Amino acid sequence: MNNVNAKRNFFVFLIFFFQVICFLTIFFFFQDINFHFPFLVLLVFSASFFILLRFEIGLTVYIVEMIILSLFFLIVKYPYPFCMYFLLMIVIQGVRYYRYKTKHTVQLDSLNLELESIKEAANINNVQYLELLKINEALEKKISRFTDLRKFSEDIIANLDLNELLNVITQKVMEIIARGDVCLIYLFDHKNESFNLANSYLASSKLKVRAKKGDPCEHWVFRQRTPLILTDILRDFRFDSEEVFSYGREFRSLISVPIISRNKFLGVIRMDSIMTEEFTADDLRLLDIIAALSAIAIDNAFLFQMMEELAVHDSLTKFYLRREFLNLFDKRIAQAQNKTDYFAVLMIDIDDFKNCNDNFGHITGDLVLKSIARIIRSVLMKEEYACRYGGEEFLILLNVRDKNEFEQRIELIRQTIESSQIRIRRQVVNVTVTIGVAFFPQDGKSTSDLIEASDNRLYKGKRTGKNKIIYE
Ligand code: GH3
Ligand code: MG
Ligand code: MG
Repeated sequence: MNNVNAKRNFFVFLIFFFQVICFLTIFFFFQDINFHFPFLVLLVFSASFFILLRFEIGLTVYIVEMIILSLFFLIVKYPYPFCMYFLLMIVIQGVRYYRYKTKHTVQLDSLNLELESIKEAANINNVQYLELLKINEALEKKISRFTDLRKFSEDIIANLDLNELLNVITQKVMEIIARGDVCLIYLFDHKNESFNLANSYLASSKLKVRAKKGDPCEHWVFRQRTPLILTDILRDFRFDSEEVFSYGREFRSLISVPIISRNKFLGVIRMDSIMTEEFTADDLRLLDIIAALSAIAIDNAFLFQMMEELAVHDSLTKFYLRREFLNLFDKRIAQAQNKTDYFAVLMIDIDDFKNCNDNFGHITGDLVLKSIARIIRSVLMKEEYACRYGGEEFLILLNVRDKNEFEQRIELIRQTIESSQIRIRRQVVNVTVTIGVAFFPQDGKSTSDLIEASDNRLYKGKRTGKNKIIYE
């Protein structure tokens, strides 16, 4: 700014100097030649005006200056005291005006400077305000997601029923992420190394999930154990879209995260959409957190299922434990009182099992128990139950529709066990069983009566040679 002013003043001075030289030259050297004075003044004015235009000097300054000069030369030519006094006044007023102007220009400059700095500060404030707004918005978003996640964990953590739990997870995921067409949970079956669709939440009833065993995207997540995001499957070099689509629905974008608990891969949560670039990296991160929370809950539900299983079933034979079986038995008798329902109770005991243990060891004995349980299970039909009643005794409830057919079925059990050659570590173990049978309602109308009757018959069989079936 000061630099510009200095330049301007310099040119004003130059013009002034040039004008003075011109006037003096005209005045002293061309006095004799009959030049008309106003004409000379006009000439100088024009020349300086040209310079003025070129250097953009203020017109007021120029005009004032011209007037003073003209008066000055006029006085020099006609030196009357009045004119001299007039000129002096103008010069004094000019100087006063100049000083006033300079003073105010300095003040104005400093005010301008202040204004500039205020404007700059305002600008900075504005930028900071916008940044704060953004941070605030991001924080609000984070708080709302945090609240969603807290609510989500509360909803799932106490839920021990696996199906109900998976229902809640898929529904909440769709609510929290609020994008995509479907949310699917595939659980991984480690025994068969395959995925099974365990739950799905569809944004529209027109959608259908046909890939019940998952598609290459699930297998990618299983292999990599990392989250997967596809913005457009058609442009992703990792997947052959046609192959992926051959498993089920077509989609363009996807996010999928592994469910891992205690280092065990439990499955994946997946969302996909027919639109490209439906999901952001933020959505993927959120889904990953949801999967981590879900993993604990799913694992808990699995453990609970296992516990329930163990509380009801025997771990070696997978048959009902005595207490559970007796409950079922009681229910069956209660139902049977009102209609013609015939069933039989079988008490099966392995013959000379002690010897088997002594000869081959207890572990082999356990494996023999397992094989016999497998044979018994293979003949069970709907509403027929088996239980491990004692160490090597099984209690079975079988339906009786036709007596002959029933006897054939039991004979088949006995024969199958007798003829089965149980192979354990290159040894072949043969066992036989004795079976005591009691019929409802002929042999008793209560659980205890029926069990007692079958037990008595079993011991009768034991006493009379073993490896046989006793009906009476
Ligand atoms: P019997 O023909 O009269 O039935 O002779 P047994 O030797 O089978 O006699 P008993 O029915 O009294 O058999 C009980 C034996 O069963 C004792 C025990 O060694 C064995 N046993 C019971 N439970 C188990 C088990 O869980 N595993 C193994 N390996 N053996 C068991
Ligand atoms: Mg026995
Ligand atoms: Mg026994």
